[in-house]
Amino acid sequence: MRTKFAASAMAIAVVASGCTFQLRDPGVSASCGPLNYEVNTNGHDLGSAQRQAIDQAFEEYGALVGRTATDLGDTTATIADHQAGDPVLIEIKWPSDAPENLGYASPDIVDGTYTSGWIYLNPSVAQAPPGLIRRITLHEIGHLAGLDDVIDPSELMDPSLPVDHFGSGDLIGLFVTHNGGCEGSTLARTLISQAAAKSDAAGNN
Ligand SMILES: [Zn+2]
Repeated sequence: MRTKFAASAMAIAVVASGCTFQLRDPGVSASCGPLNYEVNTNGHDLGSAQRQAIDQAFEEYGALVGRTATDLGDTTATIADHQAGDPVLIEIKWPSDAPENLGYASPDIVDGTYTSGWIYLNPSVAQAPPGLIRRITLHEIGHLAGLDDVIDPSELMDPSLPVDHFGSGDLIGLFVTHNGGCEGSTLARTLISQAAAKSDAAGNN
């Protein structure tokens, strides 16, 4: 689930115990603008609960960082025709020449800002449990917002998708790429409540 540019020499990693994130490029920020998205099922039978799971992922990201995510509905647009400035395009499709995986994302960068991008979802998950679709989609949105994959079982940016929601490192990464969060962002509050929960769990109160 690496982005096309994941091997960027400019990527940096910050690793602490259970708190890991990696930026695709520290010189690029994520937009605070509206995030419109549309889905091309390519005729695959994407269930309604699975379709809603995609919406839930966009809503979760939007609420966290303070962006308005809007579902533009179904489309026949293809990634081959995607241009910067277009809505995020999710295609239920897997390229025949790509390594088998569940999802793949590539961000658009306009004037040094991640604005939009596109996501492939493997047709094999079209009828998968909605929770899995939501996790995959949220992970891929993380890539569109400038996060790279990490290996840490407490982070959603771990390609094995070990957790349901963004972990502490993921949240810090989003905090960085969104320059502290857009207006109405709940990133800081979510981070603090996660830290408090961990502290309680460790008996450190
Ligand atoms: Zn990934």
